[in-house]
Amino acid sequence: MSGTNGRIAVVTGAARGIGAAVARRLGTDGFAVAVLDLDEDACAPVVRDITEGGGRALAVGVDVADEKAVKDAVARVAEELGPPTTLVNNAGILRDNLLFKMSVDEWDSVMDVHLRGSFLMSRAVQRFMTEAKWGRIVSLSSTSALGNRGQANYAAAKAGLQGFTKTLAIELGKFGVTANAVAPGFIETDMTAATAARMGVDFEDLKKAAVTQIPVGRTGTPDDVAHAVSFLVSEEAGFVSGQVLYVAGGPRG
Ligand code: NAP
Repeated sequence: MSGTNGRIAVVTGAARGIGAAVARRLGTDGFAVAVLDLDEDACAPVVRDITEGGGRALAVGVDVADEKAVKDAVARVAEELGPPTTLVNNAGILRDNLLFKMSVDEWDSVMDVHLRGSFLMSRAVQRFMTEAKWGRIVSLSSTSALGNRGQANYAAAKAGLQGFTKTLAIELGKFGVTANAVAPGFIETDMTAATAARMGVDFEDLKKAAVTQIPVGRTGTPDDVAHAVSFLVSEEAGFVSGQVLYVAGGPRG
């Protein structure tokens, strides 16, 4: 994509699933990509795909909920790849339970990764964006932000990310920085496979049930989400900010 060559992007939770697809896509788009995940070694295949395609990439192990680790990871990206001006807050976990059974740990760990993690990463990276007078922040929300049984923690975090996004759009707009959220529906990843396992349902049966509720008649893929992120971080999307783009095969929100 024009204009993004030489820009440095950071994608969290990028060793697998949606994050890996986003990292690969941004590599193809011409970004140098910092592939961040809990386990640095697990990022190697994504880094290899990008570099074998002629791009630049760096694997960095980090827990996005750890303030010191985030600071160190972003400093390493700036030193080894260059100053990051694009950030995709994708790292996420599920700790589903009905409210009456939900533990404080299940609540806190979901808030920590999604909300605290996106806050810490955005705060650490924004200074490179404001210095460059250009930046793109995309955070992964979810259709669950609209409410979903068994996900009081996750729904609250994903709705919180929408408010976070709109506020960043207001605060950072004058520096040429946009902030948007992508809110996927049912995407086939380890996360949805784990949901099926937890429910004691076959993944294929869960997908079939989901498809009956999706107007385009199929479940989503990580590449569907990566394509939306690719648009939002592009040079040409500079007038799109503070938006929530549902990638769910039908109308939501
Ligand atoms: P996934 O396959 O479970 O991948 C999530 C990645 O995030 C994993 O590599 C995981 O590392 C990493 N991660 C977890 N906690 C982390 C932390 N504290 N610091 C750094 N990395 C961490 O999930 P996905 O399905 O690709 O989902 C990606 C994002 O999209 C999430 O924010 C999710 O909530 C959102 N989303 C997904 C769907 C869907 O249908 N799949 C729908 C809507 C929204 P480990 O492998 O080491 O645990």
